[in-house]
Order: sequence, then structure tokens, then C-alpha cells
Amino acid sequence: MKLINQDTFKAFGRKMEKYWTRVGQGFVNAGNNCIRFVSNPKKFVSDYKQKKREMINDIYVPLTHNPENLLEVNALKMYFPIKQGFFKRTVGYVKAVDGVTFNIKHGTTMGLVGESGCGKTTVGRTILRLYEKTGGEVLFDGQNINKISKKSLRVKRPQLQIVFQDPYSSLSPRLPVGEIIGEAVREHKIVSPDKYDDYITEIMEACGLREYHKDRYPHEFSGGQRQRICIARALALNPKFIVCDEPVSALDVSIQAQIINLLEDLQKKFGLTYLFISHDLSVVEHISDTVAVMYLGGIVEYAPTVKVFKNPKHPYTQALFSAIPVPDPEVKMKRIILEGSIPSPANPPKGCKFHTRCRECMEICKVNVPRNLEIEPGHFVACHLYDEGAIAENKKLVEKNSATETAPE
Ligand code: SF4
Repeated sequence: MKLINQDTFKAFGRKMEKYWTRVGQGFVNAGNNCIRFVSNPKKFVSDYKQKKREMINDIYVPLTHNPENLLEVNALKMYFPIKQGFFKRTVGYVKAVDGVTFNIKHGTTMGLVGESGCGKTTVGRTILRLYEKTGGEVLFDGQNINKISKKSLRVKRPQLQIVFQDPYSSLSPRLPVGEIIGEAVREHKIVSPDKYDDYITEIMEACGLREYHKDRYPHEFSGGQRQRICIARALALNPKFIVCDEPVSALDVSIQAQIINLLEDLQKKFGLTYLFISHDLSVVEHISDTVAVMYLGGIVEYAPTVKVFKNPKHPYTQALFSAIPVPDPEVKMKRIILEGSIPSPANPPKGCKFHTRCRECMEICKVNVPRNLEIEPGHFVACHLYDEGAIAENKKLVEKNSATETAPE
């Protein structure tokens, strides 16, 4: 939303300029090539910005960089506007990522798990600035990557890479494999032209491909080999950090193991740091050092992998992990079945977002948003069950409600 000044009208010729003079300063650019007439445009724009600020509520305490961490994410928000009407006004937001906080140490892997549609992929893409964030901050090696210019981002880009979920659609069918891997290497001048061929061969061999594959096209490869090409393409830029966005979910189980082992070998060899997004909990348990569990755009539990898998604390994590199959026919699984479906991120429930499906739900959960508490070193849970203050407040709330119910009319 911008004010339109007289010069803009001059650009359209004398007729428009005359019209401007007649109606006065009464126009705002409402976006989508749409100009609106309003009686007080300055007030209109400031009201609009204020309303937007209130809707987004981007308040957070800025981070202090810890040199142990390669990536630090603080209160990250990614809202997609919902436009409606002839003027395409923003009437609300889909809160795909809503206040996500975590950090990843150098050379480690963080697993990000949760149901489909909870915002895992959006977190990965927002960190890489494939989406421009709505709020919060992302520090990469101590630098706020949302504050750097597009030109500086281009220089930084090779250090931040992504491996996409679908190895079939993420490779250009018109380019041979050597070109797919090498295109960005040339563009970013990663190696000198005389070393280019040897460098591509070396990267391909590190990813389990052969030199003669260079001249072949993606359709000549199986799913697993294609994913190796995607990994080689990311690796060729000599990255520090890779977002692995469900890299094995489109592959057979036997191939999945090969790709996971490859990612682990490359991590050891090149000291890479991964954000591993997946809904396959067994894979996440195998590869990750820390795990964050997401529900409806927020992180509900975050801890070292062993702690989360041995002793999940949040009711949602407990339900999610109860679905992991046990490879023992004698063991009877105690599955926790969640009722209802995941609410809409455009209109999330008040208080705890999980309260509509939680079997431990209390009165306070329907009203107050739970704090993110560190219940043991490095183990964070966002649930009122572990907050003594919230439990006491819940008691008062229950007493107050029962007193209101029993009071004579
Ligand atoms: S805060 Fe309440 S509703 Fe949310 S997970 Fe904890 S107990 Fe369940």
C-alpha cells in the first residue's frame, strides 16, 4: 500500500494531471495494479500499516550470536496474505510459520518433524530466503540474512543449499547431468576453468556417480540416482548448510538407506550442517542430533534426539511417536489416536493451538498460549502441564467457572 503522488499522474499525460488537480490527493496504490480513491490517503495508509502491524505482531528479543551455532532462528514468522474482493484487499493471513525458534550447531543435523501441512517446508524455504519472512530473524554464521542486500545474498547463496523432495521434478530434463551439476559452479566461479572438469568428476564420485554419467539425461536414471544428482548439485557449490526437504520420502526403502548413508558420509567428510525435514520418524532418529516437533506453524518440543525419542513430553509428540512401528511381534503398541483434523492455519484455535485435539486439555489451555519452557537442560516444551504457574492459574479458572455455573440466576 503506497501513496500516489502527482508525478505518477503526470507520467500518464495532461488529462490525468488535470484529474489529479480536481480530486486532490486522494489516491493510494492498493497493490495488484489497483488504484483506490480515498478521502484522506495519508490516514488511510497509516491506519492500514497499523492494522497490519497488529495482525502480524512482530515482537521479539533480538538474538545474541553464539559462535557454536551456524544457524539461529528466532521467532520466525511466515504469513501468506489472503486477498479478497475486487480490490484484492488483505482480509487475513495463513500463518504457515508462527514464531519458530531453534538453533543448529556447526556440523550437526537437526530433524524437523510433524504432520503434513504443519509448516516444515515453509520453515526451510524461509530460512533460505526463497520466501521473504514476515517476522523474526535468521542468523547464519552470525549474520542476519534477511538484512543483507540481494547482491550480497547472491554471494552468500552457495553456502546455503537445498535438496528437494521430488528428484523427478527438481532436475531439468533438457540438461545433461554434468551441466546440471556444473551450471552454478561456473556461475559462482567456485573453481577456475582449467580445474572445472576434474572438480565435477570428483563431486560426482563423492556422491556415488560415475564420470560417464555426465553426458546422460535425468530420465536415464532411477529415483535414487536422481537424488544423488540433486545432492551433487548442492554439494558442488561447497555449502556449509543444506536444507534436506524430505530427501528420501519419494524413494524405495532400500534406496532410502543408501541416500541417508551418503548424507552422513558427506557430513563427516565436508563438515556439513543439515536441517533434515521429514515425517519419517525412524529416519529422523537415525540421522539427527537434535529434533524439533512442529504443530500448526509452531514448535511444540525441541531437544536432543535421544531425549525426545526416549521420553517425549508434549502430548502431541507422545501421540506422534506412539505411531512408530516396533520391530517385535511380541510387543503390543500403545497407539494414541488423535481425534479431529489439523485446524486451519488461517484461523488457528486460541490459547494452545493443540487444545482442540489434546486429551490432557485444561481450561487454561483454551485461553492462554503456553510458554516455551526448558524442563531439563536442552529440552524445551511448550505445554501448560509443565508450567506450575499455569497449573495454579488453571485451578483458579476452574473454581471461577464452577462458581459462575452454580450461582442462582
Ligand atoms: S497446553 Fe494444554 S492443550 Fe496444549 S498440549 Fe499442553 S495440555 Fe494439551
